[in-house]
Amino acid sequence: MCYFEQTRWTCGYWKWGNFRQQCNKEYRTGETCGLKLVYDTTYQSGQCKLCDQIQKKYRRVHKMQTDIARWQREGNRVATIEKTEGDIQEISAQISEIMNQHNERQLKIT
Ligand SMILES: [Zn+2]
Repeated sequence: MCYFEQTRWTCGYWKWGNFRQQCNKEYRTGETCGLKLVYDTTYQSGQCKLCDQIQKKYRRVHKMQTDIARWQREGNRVATIEKTEGDIQEISAQISEIMNQHNERQLKIT
């Protein structure tokens, strides 16, 4: 078990940081035994990069939905609407993928 710094965001996401201290099971200099333990946790205010990405993508979807609603009122934009609906689906899939990554990481904290 070797000790590493850890960064943790208020949203619950965390990542490993620099290697800090070797445990007594590992004698090779500069090597780590592979089992990571928290040496020290740095708390970051605000949300992690994944949350930022999710938020940005949500905003894009919201904007596209507003556009679609407007195009539907205006008429004559069927092809554009269809294309945009496809984009929304794609981005929504990306959002759920990022959310899964985020949740998995949060569950591993214990
Ligand atoms: Zn987050």
